Amino acid sequence: KLNNELQELRGNIRVFCRLRPRSNQEANQVSNIQIDDFNDDGGTQQMHIRRDSKSHTFTFDKIFGERDSNKDVFDEIGQLIQSSLDGYNVCIFAFGQTGSGKTYTMLNPKDGIIPSTLNHIFLWVDKLKSLGWSYDISGQFIEIYNENLRDLLKGQDGEYEETSDSARLEIRHDAESSTTHLVNATTCKFASQEMISDVLSRASKMRSTAATKANSRSSRSHSVFIIKLRGYNSKSGEHSVGTLNLVDLAGSERINSSQPEAERLRETQNINKSLSCLGDVVHALGAKDAVKRHIPFRNSKLTYLLQYSLIGDSKTLMFVNVSPSLKNLPETLNSLRFAAKVN
Ligand code: ADP
Ligand code: MG
Repeated sequence: KLNNELQELRGNIRVFCRLRPRSNQEANQVSNIQIDDFNDDGGTQQMHIRRDSKSHTFTFDKIFGERDSNKDVFDEIGQLIQSSLDGYNVCIFAFGQTGSGKTYTMLNPKDGIIPSTLNHIFLWVDKLKSLGWSYDISGQFIEIYNENLRDLLKGQDGEYEETSDSARLEIRHDAESSTTHLVNATTCKFASQEMISDVLSRASKMRSTAATKANSRSSRSHSVFIIKLRGYNSKSGEHSVGTLNLVDLAGSERINSSQPEAERLRETQNINKSLSCLGDVVHALGAKDAVKRHIPFRNSKLTYLLQYSLIGDSKTLMFVNVSPSLKNLPETLNSLRFAAKVN
């Protein structure tokens, strides 16, 4: 029985790779990345990267190439997202260096995962009405920068549960019910589909206001969009609570300025720490002896926040976003190695 549970856990962590298209400046470059066709039998897919005379091979659950659109991506993950309406906890991460397409994948206003998810949830909720289900859809959007939490929905107008200005965000766990509360975070109730684009555009403005000297802050912080779906069936009396955590991670690149300023150094250390902690946690969860292992959730704010959405029958998907550019090759290989370790 234990074996079955562990098998299940392993099956609940998937890693997808996404290669962004070449930009106009990169258009004339010959690609050194080759993606094999999807192997339906084994359910995995491989890519090969040439560097000097060597070829490196990486295996993923699925690989999206330069021609695959956000819609193609959503078509593959719709079911995963839909399972949150059945009460599952889902985490989706975008990992990769700055410029590799993480924000495009997660937040592109037209068809990124977050807007598409919200729009589809409204469609699905509408369909489930005939079966007696009604849902309460609410969202929180926060940023983790230097291990500090910031509310990205604070001060927005509309149907929000406002919180006091000086209140600090705090993560609180309730072990008994295996739930997490973000104390003092603004919670936005999505009463209608029309609210979605408004909320997201304000939040992304909020995210980009604070910029540091050389690097925009948004690339140095994690943003976490949390969607809570509370369902009630008036015919059967059933309840369900599902949570979707959609995470645009901080850029994974190593900063190579010769003499980092004190602030930059601290930033970099915090990012490295939380990304490697995320890697350790996901790796430990996916290991065959996961139950026996100590899972280091407490080592970073991000993993602590997501603890209950990563364990049990939760479902986790990590996108490894990579750039097609030759000049990014060392970071691309780094990202792929990180992903291989997690997988
Ligand atoms: P990151 O968030 O990882 O720093 P971005 O998402 O900002 O990277 O992407 C960098 C640039 O590449 C942006 O101009 C973005 O619009 C573009 N881009 C990324 N992925 C795609 C894609 N799949 N299709 C078209 N443009 C893309
Ligand atoms: Mg970004």
